[in-house]
Order: sequence, then C-alpha cells, then structure tokens
Amino acid sequence: MTADFQSKDFQSKTGARVELLPLARFTTLGVGGEAEVWFVSNHEQLAEAMAQPYRILGGGSNLVIADAGVPERVIRLSGPLAERDLTPDPELSGGDGIVTGWVGGGVPLPGLVRALQKLGYSNLEGTVGIPAQVGGAVWMNAGTRYGEMFDGLHTLEIATPDGLKVVTPDDLRWGYRDSGIPRNHIVTRVRLKLQRTAPEDVLARMTLADTARKGQPKMKTPGCAFKNPGGVGAGRLIDEAGLKGTRVGNALIAPEHANFIVNLGGATAADVHALLDLIRERVGVPLELEYELWPGEADRSATPVAASQWAAEPE
Ligand SMILES: Cc1cc2nc3c(=O)[nH]c(=O)nc-3n(C[C@H](O)[C@H](O)[C@H](O)COP(=O)(O)OP(=O)(O)OC[C@H]3O[C@@H](n4cnc5c(N)ncnc54)[C@H](O)[C@@H]3O)c2cc1C
Repeated sequence: MTADFQSKDFQSKTGARVELLPLARFTTLGVGGEAEVWFVSNHEQLAEAMAQPYRILGGGSNLVIADAGVPERVIRLSGPLAERDLTPDPELSGGDGIVTGWVGGGVPLPGLVRALQKLGYSNLEGTVGIPAQVGGAVWMNAGTRYGEMFDGLHTLEIATPDGLKVVTPDDLRWGYRDSGIPRNHIVTRVRLKLQRTAPEDVLARMTLADTARKGQPKMKTPGCAFKNPGGVGAGRLIDEAGLKGTRVGNALIAPEHANFIVNLGGATAADVHALLDLIRERVGVPLELEYELWPGEADRSATPVAASQWAAEPE
C-alpha cells in the first residue's frame, strides 16, 4: 500500500492509518489543535511511525496540548496493541499467583480494572478512576495511596531506539510516579502479575480508592494541575490565594477543588495557560506542574530512530 499525500488521510507504507485530526478529541481536557495521527496496530507500523520525530499519545489524561497542535507525528496504539488477553499463562502462573497474556499499551485502564475485578484478580484495583491507557499509566507508574501500576506488572515490552525490548520491573529504576523508562520509548504491551482474590474483596478495595476522589470535579480536566510543594496541598494554597472559581475564557479553577482546572465547553489551551500563570503569580511558593504541556515549556519531542533497527517482531 502506498501513501496518498494528495489527501489529508492516507495509509502508510506498512498500512498504518494516518489522519490529520484535532488532538482535543483524544484528551480528557478536550483542548488541542491538529496533528498527523498515526494509528499503529503492529510492530512494523510502529517502527515506520518512529522513524520520524514523534510523540506517543495515550489516554490524554495528563496533557494540555497547544491550540496550534504539535508539529511531530502523534502515535496512537490501536488494533492488537489496544487489546487484552487476561488468560492466565499456565507456565508462569501457580497457586493464587497469575501471569496474564499480553495487554496492549493502548488498552483503556478503567475497563481493564473493572474486568480484573469481575475475574477476581487483584493488584491493580488501587488505580481505579485513573482515565489513562495502560501504556501511559505504566510509563509514569500512575497510582494512588491504595496502589500503583508496578504492583501488577510481570513483563514489559518497550519500543526503544535500539529495538524492541522485553524487560521485567527489576530491570528498571522505577519509583514514585516514575517507571524509569526514557521519554521516547513506547510501552507497547505488558503481562500482568495478579493475585486470585474474591471479586467482592477487590470491589471493596476499589470502592475505598474511589471514595478518596469524592471531592474531585466531574467535568473535563487533565487532573491535578500542580504537585504539592513540600507536603502542603497545592489546592489549599490556590484556595487561600482566593482563586477558586476564577474563570478565563471557558476554563475555570474548579469550585470543588482548586487544584483542578476544568473546561466549561470550548476552552482553549490559551485559557488554561492564563489560569496556570495566574496561579503561579498569586501563590507565594514555586509550583511544579503535574501535567505535561505539548509542546512543553521545555520541548520534549522524541528523537527519530531508524526503523530498520527493530522492525522484526519479537518471539
Ligand atoms: C480525572 C483524573 C484523575 C486522575 N487521577 C490520577 C491518579 O489518581 N493518579 C495518577 O497517578 N494520575 C492521575 N491522573 C493523571 C493521569 O491519568 C496519569 O498521569 C496517567 O498516567 C496518564 O496516562 P495517559 O495514558 O492518559 O497518558 P497521556 O496523558 O496520553 O500522556 C502522558 C505522558 O505519557 C506518555 N505516554 C502515553 N502513552 C505511552 C506509552 N504507551 N508508552 C510510553 N509513554 C506513553 C506520553 O507521551 C506523555 O508523555 C488523573 C487524571 C485525570 C484526568
């Protein structure tokens, strides 16, 4: 199949679907301009997509993307790379311990957590309510005080500039909200390490983790805006600065929780940036952003890799 560069949409040499799309539709905030989106469903397509400057987009739940979009191609994992096989691997599972088949990096995390609960498999229930994809959640070891992604990982398949690598958590320097995986590496698939538990017990733990979210706004948002500086709640500082309920354009500092900026409908990235700047100006202490800006304050676009370096499928 050859690329048709006459139209906006085309199929790449390896058959990846490529479309010029507004990125707003892929983010939980609902803002972001256009970019060339590559929907890749196998390793060969991924290698082709990674041969030019790229960004990898997961659930878009930690991103504020500029109104002008981004110049790099944006990779989305789809097809088999967004499917899950939760069948216990007989060779790796034993007793109450289970190791699943492959779960694609593009799989939505909330649906996965619900499915694991129904099957009576625990270890990932602490991540309930995180609207990420598996790959994005693994990349930053997303979690709550009730548990994090690395509680349930057995094996990770990662696309790197040096080829596809299959590693275990012990091979990585992971820690709090950090997998130790470099930025331009893509988590393509993982195998989960789980524990057989009564479904009602898993549900009880999910309910506990969910209860902690009660005060969070239900509107479109990329989650918490700032990290808590030195043990003080960023939300409290923003509230004390009198900014709760402040609106710029169609973006609002949520009345429910001041560390959340929400989209009232039709907000732009410029509206959100104006609120972030205002908060930083009014709150007396330096605040570090929780979410990522695309293109960033420090532009973090990936370096190109040679497709030939790792076009072969593993195993
Ligand atoms: C309502 C709400 C609640 C939230 N609650 C929590 C919470 O309790 N705990 C928590 O930790 N986070 C929370 N978040 C933040 C967010 O969900 C996490 O940061 C999550 O890890 C982002 O994953 P994503 O797939 O959405 O990634 P994206 O937002 O799409 O991308 C974020 C970063 O991950 C990279 N990335 C995406 N996919 C991959 C991949 N396959 N391989 C390598 N890198 C990748 C991107 O390039 C980017 O750098 C919340 C967000 C929202 C909107």
